[in-house]
Amino acid sequence: MTGTPAGAPEFAGLGALVTGGASGIGAAVARLLTARGAQVAVLDRDTSGAPGGTLALTADVTDDDAVRHAVDRAAETFGGLHTVVSNAGIGAVGTVTDNDDEEWRHVLDVNLLGMVRVARHALPHLRAAATGRPGAVSVTHTCSIAATAGLPQRALYSASKGAVLSLTLAMAADHVREGVRVNCVNPGTADTPWVARLLDLADDPAAERAALENRQPTGRLVGADEVAAAVAYLASPAAAAVTGTALAVDGGMQGLRLRPP
Ligand code: NAD
Repeated sequence: MTGTPAGAPEFAGLGALVTGGASGIGAAVARLLTARGAQVAVLDRDTSGAPGGTLALTADVTDDDAVRHAVDRAAETFGGLHTVVSNAGIGAVGTVTDNDDEEWRHVLDVNLLGMVRVARHALPHLRAAATGRPGAVSVTHTCSIAATAGLPQRALYSASKGAVLSLTLAMAADHVREGVRVNCVNPGTADTPWVARLLDLADDPAAERAALENRQPTGRLVGADEVAAAVAYLASPAAAAVTGTALAVDGGMQGLRLRPP
């Protein structure tokens, strides 16, 4: 098969893997890709929230063997792997003097090395799939506005996402001639269980939420579905010419210097 049959959903016949797909942005991506015709596997350390209709694969992205097994299982089940969305990630709060070496190693192990492991084990499957579906084979990383914006109290988290951005560009260069596109999305603050957990810890959750909303020029948080729509575009055959790109979905946070009136 060299393309999507006329009238078929754009991801028909494509196998997809979404890490961190049991919650928040990843779950929204898994739902959207399923709705658009993909067969979707969710790799998560806790798959209890994996959307219906997906193949739930319980694995921790810090465990190289578990990642390899899960990636291979998805490819075998679907008869190939075309779309990888590497999205699993964790947060960290503090300045550079607040987090010790153990915390740095752990967050980098999840946020950066987790994506390296997924890519390492997915690439043989992606290369094989690229010969049959040119333009439709891709890796999309969930990066963050923190990679480029200089957010206060986020030294470790920002460094981990800055590394993800660089990884995205390097992988895009390495694999472009193999037919594997590599991009990332940079969400602003998104309305997910992650942010809900952060707000729960605040002295005044309502005031903290208002502060997060005001930090974005649109005056509201980004929806997980809005990030998912950007991921689906980058993964779709419509983006066949798009690789090595960071797509901000951040309510104007990076690009705008003034809030609109
Ligand atoms: P979330 O906490 O709602 O979901 C994250 C998912 O990843 C969970 O299902 C969790 O079980 C899984 N996960 C975490 N560590 C894992 C591990 N070691 N192995 C396997 N699975 C693991 O968070 P979210 O807000 O949907 O965030 C998803 C991604 O988006 C993260 O990479 C995050 O850095 C990024 N991001 C989030 C925001 C935001 O404001 N929510 C903004 C920018 C970027």
